[in-house]
Amino acid sequence: MEDCIFCKIVKGDIPSIKVYENERVLAFEDISPISTGHTLIIPKTHAENLFEMTEEDLKAVILASKKVAGAIRTALSPEGIAVLQLNGRGVNQVVMHYHMHLVPRTAGDSDLPITGWEIKPGDMDAIKITGEKIAAAI
Ligand SMILES: [Zn+2]
Repeated sequence: MEDCIFCKIVKGDIPSIKVYENERVLAFEDISPISTGHTLIIPKTHAENLFEMTEEDLKAVILASKKVAGAIRTALSPEGIAVLQLNGRGVNQVVMHYHMHLVPRTAGDSDLPITGWEIKPGDMDAIKITGEKIAAAI
């Protein structure tokens, strides 16, 4: 897509700090990182979100995420790595080209906001109804 910043990165029209690429995907450093080593993996073919991704590109992104996360672990020795992918403006997807975030957290860093939610028991009746709705839609 012509106006897409990530398509421009794929084409080389906008520079990026590339860490990995193959024929389907590109991985590069987020320029507004949540933490040191925050890396994005994108398909080279434009797809706005999970719903538009081809199975081949999804597989390629997942396989690349394992490779790149392994490299982050080796290079930075984080305490853990969050894998995050947003779909839609309602969940703050900013660039409308599918991207997977790999967000490492190093010992001593503050908690990642994306992993800091409070765990408390839900309403099991409501959860069951929701689960049934989703299952019926598959
Ligand atoms: Zn794009």
